[in-house]
Amino acid sequence: MTQTPHSAADSELSQFRVKGEIPVPALINWLSAAAVPILAFFAWRSSQHGDNLNASVLLVFSGLLALNLLVFLGFRHKTLQRRGFISLITVLFTYLAVHAVEDGSAIIWLFAYPPIIFYISEARVGVFACAGGWLAVLFLFSPAGEWLFGSPYSSSFRISLVIVLAFEMVTCYILDQSRRRSKLGLLKLAAEFEYAAKHDALTGLANRREGLTQLEGEYQRYLRNGRPFSVLLMDIDLFKTVNDQHGHQVGDELIILVARTLASGCRKMDTIARWGGEEFLVLLPETTLAEASASAERMRAAVATQSVQTESGKTMGVTISTGVASIRGSESIDRLLQRADEALYAAKSRGRDQVCIEAKAAR
Ligand code: GH3
Ligand code: MG
Ligand code: MG
Repeated sequence: MTQTPHSAADSELSQFRVKGEIPVPALINWLSAAAVPILAFFAWRSSQHGDNLNASVLLVFSGLLALNLLVFLGFRHKTLQRRGFISLITVLFTYLAVHAVEDGSAIIWLFAYPPIIFYISEARVGVFACAGGWLAVLFLFSPAGEWLFGSPYSSSFRISLVIVLAFEMVTCYILDQSRRRSKLGLLKLAAEFEYAAKHDALTGLANRREGLTQLEGEYQRYLRNGRPFSVLLMDIDLFKTVNDQHGHQVGDELIILVARTLASGCRKMDTIARWGGEEFLVLLPETTLAEASASAERMRAAVATQSVQTESGKTMGVTISTGVASIRGSESIDRLLQRADEALYAAKSRGRDQVCIEAKAAR
């Protein structure tokens, strides 16, 4: 069955891509590629002002970001890339603030941190990183931070920065939550569409198109490994009479009942498709003709014991006829289905409520 992201946790959400969304690894690559020359530029400026220590530190960060980028391009390890990047920018931004790089103006780079961190990591990580960062700034601006690091920021700048940073972090959080919810909504919708495209609305079974897709997949497997598969073509007997006598509603209930009975009589690996109005196709992978006809017989007997209540209180049941065929040699899927159909026709003409195996002579 198709996996649906209905209950995708925040950590799983990034595994699903929505069209147009920038992939996290690509964003990190672009940010790293941009950061490397920017840091080198500020390192050069620092060296011009004689602050060689700061120039070296900025160059080291530039080199480490380049290294992180190259390691990702070489090994394609997404988690390593993300963790490396987050660690590097967290340490870098802390350094910029504490060391008051560029006469203290480099601290405004902190505003780049919240949107990046929320985009590239889980919401929980974003909240922790931002809260931690904000508290660290608060500490830096406190008398204790002043005493420890001697930062040159004016009190009006400190007040504004702390408030504006908090405002930005909360805004980023809200926007990120909205983005995640929209993404989840889109993924849910896509999963529902995919489900509807593959399943029959009345019974929930695979529809004919999905049945054919599965059949094609099984056929390809057969061509590779030579293990034969079988198909059962089933048709509810004299169903028109049921509709005519008891109405379409009872007919629908009986179709659902047959579908459920077939589903409960199948293995997980089997596919049951609603092939037509009151016709079903069961695909039995790696199953011989003898095993398939035994399964068909069990299903026939199970359906015969089931019934629904009509509005007038009458108990109403149905029977099914089944044609069984197994893939042979290099015959096509169409030929296999034709042989199953011929066997079904034989079951009908021999009196219905029975299983008929493909004619031995048919080639
Ligand atoms: P046979 O044993 O030869 O198969 O006889 P039959 O009456 O089942 O065969 P026929 O193909 O003439 O009739 C099939 C009927 O199935 C006709 C159609 O009204 C009914 N049917 C097809 N789809 C549905 C459905 O979704 N709901 C209901 N209630 N009836 C359906
Ligand atoms: Mg029919
Ligand atoms: Mg029928």
